[in-house]
Amino acid sequence: MTSVIELSEPARTAPATGPVIELNRVTKTYPGGVTALRDVDLTVLAGELIAIVGPSGSGKSTMLHMIGTLDRPTAGTIRIDGHDVAALTDRQLSALRARSIGFVFQQFHLAPGRSAVANVADGLLYSGVPKKERERLARAALIRVGLEDRLGHRPHQLSGGERQRVAVARAVAGDPAVLLADEPTGNLDSVAGAGVVDLLRELNAAGTTVLVITHDHEIAASLPRQVPMRDGQVV
Ligand code: ADP
Repeated sequence: MTSVIELSEPARTAPATGPVIELNRVTKTYPGGVTALRDVDLTVLAGELIAIVGPSGSGKSTMLHMIGTLDRPTAGTIRIDGHDVAALTDRQLSALRARSIGFVFQQFHLAPGRSAVANVADGLLYSGVPKKERERLARAALIRVGLEDRLGHRPHQLSGGERQRVAVARAVAGDPAVLLADEPTGNLDSVAGAGVVDLLRELNAAGTTVLVITHDHEIAASLPRQVPMRDGQVV
């Protein structure tokens, strides 16, 4: 579709090498005057698995919004998958998001009344993939996260852990360069939460770059790299 072609680069077929995410002196001040990020530098290489950890209000979600190109910084530069975000139009940003970034949120954000396959396939609506192929990719992603027996289940028929697996399948179905997870275990009991973290580890081992926001120090400590945040800065 045009939104994808607009980025005028071939779709990724092999894992990229080098930085997937580069933040250079990124500052974000919200209207009203709260500076949630101050001069943040961060480089994430392809294939990393990183925990962004810090207390509530330290700027973790704001950083994830910046990296996810859901919002623009007040100052500084951000490069995602080789693109300088500031140089892209909103339309090009949507294309970059659709192609390069998968999101997982604490609240799952699944459509009620829609099957697991439909929820995952809908995540590819803006990727330019035809319907039949979206469904094929959705099934493959659900099998990958261990839900081959739940393809037709609707969210209310799934446990919390299974719902989050559907959300993870949706995030990775399009083979994004980077998976961003904002407190993915926040609504789960410890067993289901550990299962989701194991799943993120497996996806990372298979080549996906993964950033996990967490205030859980045990989870953070179990991941290969921690980015500690406090008062809008990486410490
Ligand atoms: P965390 O994810 O670590 O809890 P946030 O990035 O959500 O931190 O918030 C950092 C700071 O920015 C907080 O002081 C918060 O109140 C403020 N903040 C977050 N989002 C907004 C917004 N949309 N408008 C104004 N202030 C915001």
